[in-house]
Amino acid sequence: MVQRPIIIAGPCSAETDEQMDIAFREAGSRGVDFVRVNLWKPRDIPAFDGLKEKGLYLLTRAAQAGVNPGLEVMFPDHVSMAMDAVLPHLKPEGKLLVWIGARNQNHFLQREIARVASQDPRVMLMVKNQPWPNDKHWEGIISHVLDVGFPKERLLNCYRGIAPSPSDHNPEEFRNIVDFESAMSMKQKTGVPMIFDPSHTGGSVPNVFRMGEMSAEYDFDGIIIEIHHDPEHALTDSKQQLTWQQFDELMEKMHIAPKQ
Ligand code: PEP
Ligand code: MN
Repeated sequence: MVQRPIIIAGPCSAETDEQMDIAFREAGSRGVDFVRVNLWKPRDIPAFDGLKEKGLYLLTRAAQAGVNPGLEVMFPDHVSMAMDAVLPHLKPEGKLLVWIGARNQNHFLQREIARVASQDPRVMLMVKNQPWPNDKHWEGIISHVLDVGFPKERLLNCYRGIAPSPSDHNPEEFRNIVDFESAMSMKQKTGVPMIFDPSHTGGSVPNVFRMGEMSAEYDFDGIIIEIHHDPEHALTDSKQQLTWQQFDELMEKMHIAPKQ
């Protein structure tokens, strides 16, 4: 991990005012760069898929609490709605992070999302790799968003592993299979900073710790990690969310010092 990694932390999805106010406070006191305020959750089967538009006020609330919000966007209008909710309320150095998730592999949407996000210098865009192994496709996502004029200085890449197939060797039962070398070579090839996602690769609290510690050996530029004050009752990904205390333990194990 680089010396001053970018830290994106917070619940898998935004659920309640209480949950998010705790996240803003805990993240703020630790100098976390972006708090997850995730409003649109793609789901494999029908289930809670986020507060959607009715949660936009939580983005405003994050900015008013002095923390930078980050969220997955599925469509270009999600970006404009998030920009309207956040940008007028940001502190002077504040930023908004939007990301294209692993399931969003429609290049027309990727390009439009990037085009809208490019319009304000305070908006950063992160791209997660697709769920199947294909470095050409992954590099293609980066090319698409740069091609519409999104500035490279505001772009992040995120490695979230690939979905395992039954023939994969996976004795630890990680949720996703990782190939750290492929993430590092994509960082080299694209010149875009590479964030690591120990939550969706790990899939369970012990495995999030394992993934975090394994990734610390590599030159990642930051992490995105799911943290909930009451993981057991989380509406999405409850098995893999850490408490804020476990977050502190993992940061110590990964030798990441809190920011001032
Ligand atoms: C997420 O980061 O919230 C997420 C759903 O991850 P991915 O798109 O990598 O599956
Ligand atoms: Mn999740």
